[in-house]
Amino acid sequence: MSLPSFRRTKIIATLGPATESEAMLVQLIAAGVDVIRLNMAHAKHDWTREVIRRVRRASAVAGREVAVMMDIKGPEIRTGDLTVPLELKVGEIFDFTVKPGAERERAEEIRSVDVNYQNLINDIHVGNTVLVDSGLIRLEVLEKHDAHIRCRVLTPGSLSSRRHINLPGVHVNLPSFTEKDRGDTLVGIAEGIDFVALSFVREAADILQLRAFLKEHKSRARIVAKIEDQSAIDNLDEIISATDALMVARGDLGIEVPFEELPVIQRRAVKTCLAIGRPVIIATHMLESMIGQPMPTRAEITDVANAVFEQADCVMLSGETTVGRFPLECVAVLKTIATRIEEELANDFPEPAVFLAERMKIYRSAVVLANEVSGSTLLAFTKHGTTAAGLAAHRPARAGILAVTDNLETLRHLRMVRSVEPFYLAPFTDPESTLERAITSLVSIGRLRAGDKLVIVSDVQAENNRRIDSIQLRTVQ
Ligand code: PEP
Repeated sequence: MSLPSFRRTKIIATLGPATESEAMLVQLIAAGVDVIRLNMAHAKHDWTREVIRRVRRASAVAGREVAVMMDIKGPEIRTGDLTVPLELKVGEIFDFTVKPGAERERAEEIRSVDVNYQNLINDIHVGNTVLVDSGLIRLEVLEKHDAHIRCRVLTPGSLSSRRHINLPGVHVNLPSFTEKDRGDTLVGIAEGIDFVALSFVREAADILQLRAFLKEHKSRARIVAKIEDQSAIDNLDEIISATDALMVARGDLGIEVPFEELPVIQRRAVKTCLAIGRPVIIATHMLESMIGQPMPTRAEITDVANAVFEQADCVMLSGETTVGRFPLECVAVLKTIATRIEEELANDFPEPAVFLAERMKIYRSAVVLANEVSGSTLLAFTKHGTTAAGLAAHRPARAGILAVTDNLETLRHLRMVRSVEPFYLAPFTDPESTLERAITSLVSIGRLRAGDKLVIVSDVQAENNRRIDSIQLRTVQ
């Protein structure tokens, strides 16, 4: 390994009551969190504004600029309010009302709850399954009426207010980018968020719509497509090609598809992302038991290790850092597992993938060179992040990628990319003196030492002010 504390796999932590204080943020960032996620399902705008500013302040205190990802809720169907929870029993007949207040036959004998989506009646069919509260309660649709859907309870449970509904296999005709999402995203854009994670992406067109919105509002935020249901799996290839990054959102996905499909989908999604160089995040329940206890289960250790073996870019924490008792311990556990597995991968690595684009062939050559020069480090100069991400796409086996950029937005975008350690250096002047300044600065902070081998990917100055792509092998003096 070229750098003593180098870690390839990036860590995303969701902010919540357990972690939202500035003091806690400083500790999380210093501990190695790369991206802070805001879950807009639970966020008010004032909180959102304040917390993004707090992340920027905490980054300055910790001396490590991290990225902010706003996770917008997308189309969501929920049950309405209940004065007291209803204990649903196996075999009970139960109604979901889509026109609250409308007459129902035998209504006095049959209990019911409202649903916030009127058109549900058109999307759903007799025989479909309705899952409530993360799939804990399961019902089968028996009849459709004008104002309600009549079901039978298959798996019992306690139904409380505003519970999330999943409808496996049902194509829901809700817009993918809702009014609430627009409002939330505008707040995020004004505060300079780095990523927007779009929930329940069903097809590439959903991503294009968000991209147009970001462009219209002059945002450079990158799009993370969250795959959470069967439609996303059916359209996986087009989604991966349209998005900037992918999140395997295993929470909802594990409800929407048969659970045994989850590992198969995860593997296919990661492989497809690797094949075209898209960052990919493995999310949800990675260290779920650590919400309440300081050590992970053996199964969780193996799940995190599997994501690292698959060479995903990021692993994500949700409840573990929003409400968990041990957020810092979770980050430490992810780091420990990731660095150990990355060490293992360095001894047994495949040939770098072959991409069609000509530029990618230059990056591949640099990665092949770095793989062959023992102890070398890749050093890239990158304004928009393309060079660093292009190198990372080839999954260098041993060398880390030091990405020097003169743009803070680019630096934050690169926080999501495996193997890339971004550094800020401004301004970029002529290539040779920028290179000298970068090396001096990296030596001064201890990231490089005299004698280190560098595989450098940058421009070089040629005659008539022309700049030429180059790969150089140098030794730090
Ligand atoms: C998930 O379902 O796994 C997920 C990350 O999405 P959310 O937490 O927004 O439900």
